[in-house]
Amino acid sequence: MGLKQNIEGIQARIEKAAEKSGRKASDIILVAVSKTVDSEMVRRAYDLGLRHFGENRVQELQNKLDSLPEAHWHMIGRLQTNKVKDLVGKVQLIHSLDRWKLAEEIDKRGQQAGLEVPALIEVNISGEIQKAGFAADEVEELLKQAAQFKSLRIHGFMTMAPLTDHAESSRPIFRELADMKKRLGKNSYHNVELKYLSMGMSDDFEVAVEEGANIVRIGTALFKE
Ligand SMILES: *Cc1c(COP(=O)(O)O)cnc(C)c1O
Repeated sequence: MGLKQNIEGIQARIEKAAEKSGRKASDIILVAVSKTVDSEMVRRAYDLGLRHFGENRVQELQNKLDSLPEAHWHMIGRLQTNKVKDLVGKVQLIHSLDRWKLAEEIDKRGQQAGLEVPALIEVNISGEIQKAGFAADEVEELLKQAAQFKSLRIHGFMTMAPLTDHAESSRPIFRELADMKKRLGKNSYHNVELKYLSMGMSDDFEVAVEEGANIVRIGTALFKE
């Protein structure tokens, strides 16, 4: 299968899953995770209509952004505080706000640049120790604390389900994050607008969309040969 067929197949599957949850394909943002492919492949995907791309390393993101500045770039991987200054103003969205120190650094660098910086809180719903993210019971406090930010803006939540070859086992994880968004979305917090739910990857994106994801991050299924 070629790239074009992969894209069309995934878009059709997103559309079906979106319909199951009463939405349209156009309500879902497909972030093509390009970490395993080169800039040329990213360009091909762009020419075939994809607009959002995700990388999990800052240097790689910068290189690809330089070769395709007209695309929207998403930072989806663990972000070291000393790299934040290189990202601010360049990326559409940081999906991996996973600790308080990082929030402070993003806020500081955003302020210095005179920019608002949108980010998603990464929530470790599954509670695996090796996994990044805030614990589910820390999120509400973080939203309250967001009032003190000058530049950082919270636009929703991101999570990763545990690795599995059985997509259904991710469903409770996705549902829990979607419920959290619904519950906390009833309150109003300064500098917070809970509009995005970034969840679902190659093996479980349909389940994620059925449960309410409006951003999916897909690499392997798109770029496989
Ligand atoms: C690599 C990666 C993805 C994409 O994973 P695939 O299984 O290749 O679709 C999504 N999210 C994050 C954070 C990643 O690092």
